[in-house]
Amino acid sequence: MIEPSAISALRTRESARFVANNPKSKSVFENSSGWFQQVPFHWMLDWPSPFPIVAASAEGAHLTSIDGQQFDDFCLGDTASMFGHSPPALSAALAQQAGQGLSYMLPTVKGAELSNMLAGMFGLPHWQVTTTASEANRAVIRWCRGLTGRQKILIFNGCYHGAVDDVFVDLRDGVAVNRPSLIGQVQDLLPTTVAVEFNDFDALESALRTGDIACVLAEPVMTNIGMVRDAPGYLETLRRLCSDTGTLLVFDETHTISSGYGGHSNSHGPMPDIMVIGKSIGGGVPCAVYGFTAQVSARMEALNKSRPSGHSGIGATLSANALAITAMHAMLGQVITRPAYDHMLAMADRLVSGLRQIIDVRGLPWHVSHVGARVEFVCVSEPPRNGSEARAAMDHELESAIHLYLTNRGILLAPFHNMMLLSPVTRPEQVDRLLHALDSCVGELLEIKA
Ligand code: PMP
Repeated sequence: MIEPSAISALRTRESARFVANNPKSKSVFENSSGWFQQVPFHWMLDWPSPFPIVAASAEGAHLTSIDGQQFDDFCLGDTASMFGHSPPALSAALAQQAGQGLSYMLPTVKGAELSNMLAGMFGLPHWQVTTTASEANRAVIRWCRGLTGRQKILIFNGCYHGAVDDVFVDLRDGVAVNRPSLIGQVQDLLPTTVAVEFNDFDALESALRTGDIACVLAEPVMTNIGMVRDAPGYLETLRRLCSDTGTLLVFDETHTISSGYGGHSNSHGPMPDIMVIGKSIGGGVPCAVYGFTAQVSARMEALNKSRPSGHSGIGATLSANALAITAMHAMLGQVITRPAYDHMLAMADRLVSGLRQIIDVRGLPWHVSHVGARVEFVCVSEPPRNGSEARAAMDHELESAIHLYLTNRGILLAPFHNMMLLSPVTRPEQVDRLLHALDSCVGELLEIKA
């Protein structure tokens, strides 16, 4: 049994150790008062350390801080760099493009090739580019409402799809509420956003049978409230109900591209009507894409032609700029390959069996969740079946103490959850170092008595 007092004792000790070991990072942080809260982007304060590590460089699955510490990186930019930091093919393509112009508002030859590469890899014939996955999801919601003439969308409780106003509805004790943590939210989303629990077959069916839902926007496996796996048959039921009710099925594969080659849809099924992929598709260069079936494409074209002239509300000036197209072209052509996935999945298997062994040997009431190259340890014994159970399973104090301990031993985990990503360049010894450090952490936590 890990005592709360052990967690806070470890946290206090590890915070002091972090401060002592990272004087240069501390100094940069203290000299960054031009930034709001001393960071250029406030999420950078979400790491469990007293101040963020200041990065010097990163390559492959390694990151080096300005204090000279080497990290085995399992955060990988929270998926943006899940195929490794600065893959050589990407760096070379970017360097070349840098001297040839970065943004033209014109198509390029590489762009034409990329459209075919996207279709080949993800199995949908037509695509559009945006700058972030958030923006892609916003565009897709607008398209779906436009195509169906329906106002409502359906999302799963506990989901995250980026900075997308429409999805911020939670279920609290079964009652839909606007997500209370949002800043400056003035719109009541409840009339147009329906939230149901993931894996609840009946709730899904009754919501969709009303016939007034434009689209379901979902991750095929929930990954942002911890990982919640789909119950057997759930995604197939979702697919069938969407088809039966004229509801468009949108899979946001921004994270689940880690499930296998072609994303979760292609590696596990079923296929959606529209797919969104962001972050890693440009290897860290800001870009995202959404793809759709020929049928959806024809409807989009008809809608676009029939609407009055003027702003569509979809798109932004930097979308599909030459740098983004170059990045995706290099990533799809040379980095996001089948052999890359073979390695990622093998590393994930190694990590999963090591984690299960630690849990067994230490007698912890924990479990491991795993799809493709994304692995998570969860500090409760039963896998959560939906967003409410996943929210209840989170133990912020324990998780952040573990993360900090690991950071001090050269292991980086994403600050927002216990998710670990295995890249095509993650080495077995990196996995083993993570397992060793986690085992030591648990050992110490179990030993510290009140
Ligand atoms: N969709 C999912 C599933 C995500 O996890 C995220 C970000 N974590 C986004 C969309 C938004 O991506 P971005 O922040 O790059 O816009």
